[in-house]
Amino acid sequence: MSQHVHKYKRVDIGRDKPYYVMQCCLPGCTHYTPMRTKLSCPALVGKISVCNKCNDRFEMDRRSLRQAKPTCSSCVTSPEQREIDKAARFFATLEKGLAE
Ligand SMILES: [Zn+2]
Ligand SMILES: [Zn+2]
Repeated sequence: MSQHVHKYKRVDIGRDKPYYVMQCCLPGCTHYTPMRTKLSCPALVGKISVCNKCNDRFEMDRRSLRQAKPTCSSCVTSPEQREIDKAARFFATLEKGLAE
């Protein structure tokens, strides 16, 4: 089996009661990780996965694990997140400027 970075989506595989897992949706892969609750999956925090929008690799955090189809921070559309990204980019530019 080839190595790949899992691309996760939330699935309910429970029969009598909900049982949420983050499952890899790439063809031929049966990997999944059980979630603690519908909106939290501590086992995957800090793990690398593939963004459901841009297909780039990114490190999952609590924010992305609340999504049914996790996306990287640059694909998040909430204005709040955009502000955070903008600030992060600003500081990165600043640091680069100081290093040069
Ligand atoms: Zn996989
Ligand atoms: Zn993305």
